[in-house]
Amino acid sequence: ASNIDINSIRKDFPILDQKVNGKPLIYFDNAATTQKPKSVIEALSEYYSSYNANIHRGLHTLAEKATTAFEDTRKVFQKFINANEVEEVIFTKGTTDSINLVANAYGRKFLEKGDEIVITAMEHHSNIVPWQMIAEEKGAVLKIIPVNKKGEISLDDVKATVNKNTKIVSVVYASNSLGTVNPVKEIAKIAHDHDAVMLVDGAQASSHCIVDVQDLDCDFYATSGHKMYGPTGCGILYGKRAILEEMNPYQGGGEMINNVSFEKTTYNDIPYKFEAGTPNIADVVALKKAAEYINNIGKDNIMAHEKALTAHAHERLSEIPGINFYGTADDKVSVVSFTIDNVHPYDAGLMLDAKGIAVRTGHHCTQPLMEHFGIDGTIRASFSVYNTIDEIDFFVDSLKDIVAKFS
Ligand code: PMP
Repeated sequence: ASNIDINSIRKDFPILDQKVNGKPLIYFDNAATTQKPKSVIEALSEYYSSYNANIHRGLHTLAEKATTAFEDTRKVFQKFINANEVEEVIFTKGTTDSINLVANAYGRKFLEKGDEIVITAMEHHSNIVPWQMIAEEKGAVLKIIPVNKKGEISLDDVKATVNKNTKIVSVVYASNSLGTVNPVKEIAKIAHDHDAVMLVDGAQASSHCIVDVQDLDCDFYATSGHKMYGPTGCGILYGKRAILEEMNPYQGGGEMINNVSFEKTTYNDIPYKFEAGTPNIADVVALKKAAEYINNIGKDNIMAHEKALTAHAHERLSEIPGINFYGTADDKVSVVSFTIDNVHPYDAGLMLDAKGIAVRTGHHCTQPLMEHFGIDGTIRASFSVYNTIDEIDFFVDSLKDIVAKFS
């Protein structure tokens, strides 16, 4: 039991009130992207209807208003992740963009031949491929922390993998395909003991976990707006000031400069050094409403509700013969990933869609993890604050009907 008023929360999300294939929509694809509350949708519309202008350089009233709104989101995010300083919050396109920024602006400057980058076997492709690209360029080596049967990593394996050659450790806080919550605070400590920097992939964590970058003591934290009730195409990279200041810029252009001449260009201070070009102003402005939405309900309340949903889903799904769960860690977010013997995930996904139920099927951009488990993919149901026990019951009953058709 949690302290949330689910009926009033559901009314905040206009998209939920519709039928899909003649059935009430049940949206269980929240790990891919969450739906948006009215406050976020209205902030987008209000921005374009009343104060659209380019930011930072304009002196006129609309430009001032747009700049203030944009910078307000930075302040809200500073608190949201408990960064020490507002300048440590950089706006990006999202988690992928944030990780690429670090790989290019930190990795290209500081990696040398033979250096090691450490990730885990459960990383999303966006926390694998940018490191492979920079490793190849610099002659660095990618090292992988293994995952056990339950979909967890062990600190002993972290200690066995991180060594004096390690320069960067990059680990997902909450796995999108298993739900596993990783001990990123303890891993950061191990990284720092070896003078490596620690990046936390917070794409899933921002809406499901307490995020306190100072307590985690991570050097970088990457996240996406669209997975925490905000718009697509915007996210943040947090970095510790001293490290951000040492880094080279990622992209060159307007806004990131101090002075440009053909002989020599000097760069702007952080965070602007990393924000070349006109940013995604409307979406960043609306992102503030998403963070406020979470704050108003309270992370603790959201987490309690989602925990109850996840436990109920595990319990009810266990009634299905031939079900195999992937990701049964003790500490996990609201992601339930499974296969059913003799039922292909794609068939199940299509048949669930016919009943108005949206789940994700496939490898969830974690192909090496699927290979580790010896499967092509799973059926993944992922829950958010607006999901209900009744929806889970309908989902499980529907799955039972589907499985019956295959046996
Ligand atoms: N990491 C994780 C754990 C994710 O779940 C995702 C999105 N599925 C990403 C990174 C990439 O996020 P984005 O596509 O928003 O850049």
